[in-house]
Amino acid sequence: MSVRSVVIHGHFYQPPREDPWLNEVAAEPSAAPFHDWNQRIEQECYRAVVAARLYAPDGRIAQIVNTLASISFNFGPTLLEWLERQALSTYAAVLEADRLSRERHGGHGNAIAILPLSSRRDKVTEVRWGIADFRRRFGRDPEGMWLPETAVDPETLDVLAAEGIRFTILAPHQVEHAPPAGLPGCYRTPGGRSMALCVYDGPISHDVAFGPLLKDAAAWVERLLAPAKGKSAPRLVAVATDGETYGHHHRFGEVALAWLLQDLERRSGVQVENFAAFLARHTPRHEVKLVAPTSWSCAHGVERWRADCGCRMAPERPTQQRWRAPLREALDWLAGELHACFEREGGELFRDAWAARDAYGAVVGSDEATIARFVAEQMRRPHDAARGVRARELLDLERNALRMFTSCGWFFDDIAGLESVQILRYAARAIELAGTDAPRLEAGVLDRLARAESNEPGAGTGRDVYLSRVKRRVPVDASRSDWDTAGPGGDAARELLGAVMLLEHDHSSRAIAVVTELADRVQRDGSPVPFDAQTAFYRIRAASPPDWAAQLAPVAWRLGFADGDGVEKGEGGDH
Ligand SMILES: [Zn+2]
Repeated sequence: MSVRSVVIHGHFYQPPREDPWLNEVAAEPSAAPFHDWNQRIEQECYRAVVAARLYAPDGRIAQIVNTLASISFNFGPTLLEWLERQALSTYAAVLEADRLSRERHGGHGNAIAILPLSSRRDKVTEVRWGIADFRRRFGRDPEGMWLPETAVDPETLDVLAAEGIRFTILAPHQVEHAPPAGLPGCYRTPGGRSMALCVYDGPISHDVAFGPLLKDAAAWVERLLAPAKGKSAPRLVAVATDGETYGHHHRFGEVALAWLLQDLERRSGVQVENFAAFLARHTPRHEVKLVAPTSWSCAHGVERWRADCGCRMAPERPTQQRWRAPLREALDWLAGELHACFEREGGELFRDAWAARDAYGAVVGSDEATIARFVAEQMRRPHDAARGVRARELLDLERNALRMFTSCGWFFDDIAGLESVQILRYAARAIELAGTDAPRLEAGVLDRLARAESNEPGAGTGRDVYLSRVKRRVPVDASRSDWDTAGPGGDAARELLGAVMLLEHDHSSRAIAVVTELADRVQRDGSPVPFDAQTAFYRIRAASPPDWAAQLAPVAWRLGFADGDGVEKGEGGDH
């Protein structure tokens, strides 16, 4: 029997939400009871996929698994930046998943803009920044790159290949004559380079994303292993969806995923792996042509990011997206002016201004000292402090000029929405950094935005949105929500988490007694045992010496774990 490979890809992404001046996320009332959407989705999805529960027949927890260690995944760089600051243990679990699956050489860098709509120079910078960000976090080079909305054209693939990227993931409609058996295709770029194109299975991915298969993991297994009808049997079945499918869009989706992975890993004739591992064994030979420009979320190519093509989030509502064209026009015009400013001033300060921009991706977001050192290295006269300040500003001007093309600015239904306001904030920040030119640039942007009409009653045009929601800044309340500090169940729940954490180093009967007492108190209050306390306990117990693990057995029961040897050594991915 030939082995069938299964690759499940999760694309984890959140639109950037932080204030470009303060680097903090403002409160978003629509995400209540959480402070903002990042925090809410972190609880529902990210925290859940790295600690997915497998249940025993009696409903108690049998195992907790980091599903990311077994699947293929990418996280948008702005999301990783947020996780690193606000949800450190989840962030650590993402890095750990990559470490566990490292022998499979997965890993994807990221760009942020719809690259077919960017100039070649901006494409190169986006790709270099994506690679640098990945390298800094994961400590190795990415083999693949996730393109925002899988938007692709020949030049984008040429740039990826030139930067050492070996593959990307596309939807079925983006290639002509896909190879048989689900195999990746080989694409020759205009520059004569080659790039592997991994095409996911459309119908199965659709049924995962929209739910039916997450409600019935056995049916999901069946679909992945189904014999082909009238074509060659698949050697590779790939599923690609938004990562937020698991736990956020579909509650307990991560439990179905964990169950599926365990079921598949126990079968012979099936290999759960990632694209890079598969490609290492099967060099793509079947040449494919690109349908370009295309993306996975617009049936009209990449019109969704510049026209009223009809694609939107809520088709049942009678809204127009004619604002997309003037918004794109305004920012294209602004980018041209900003780049001219950068070239003019930067040409005098840097040894090579554009090379400095490309290299900035390696340190962007780092501490002050690192950035100061970087700027000095790039300058013609490294010891001129005043000019150093301006050089740094110019690099940030370019950073914001790139960030204002973040794909979600056009993706949603209205220019007054959070995501479009966010990219206009980047534009405003970039304008501010342009110095004496700023008033002229702002006037030019406002003129163009005046043609972009909002659907929101009273919001006016893009010009009004800019003046009322972008320029006049809302004070940021960066404090964490009450829910987050206390958690459900309040003080006892928080104390329980603290007491569980102590079990890692305090191997005394007193430490056990404290946890037992607190667990009883939480239950008396009628609250569930906190998710994080269970996860922490599971990890500590799995890493404990056998005698201490044995002493923890009664505590495990109290915290909701199944009886017996439910806690397996070496959870996730190393088998
Ligand atoms: Zn469209």
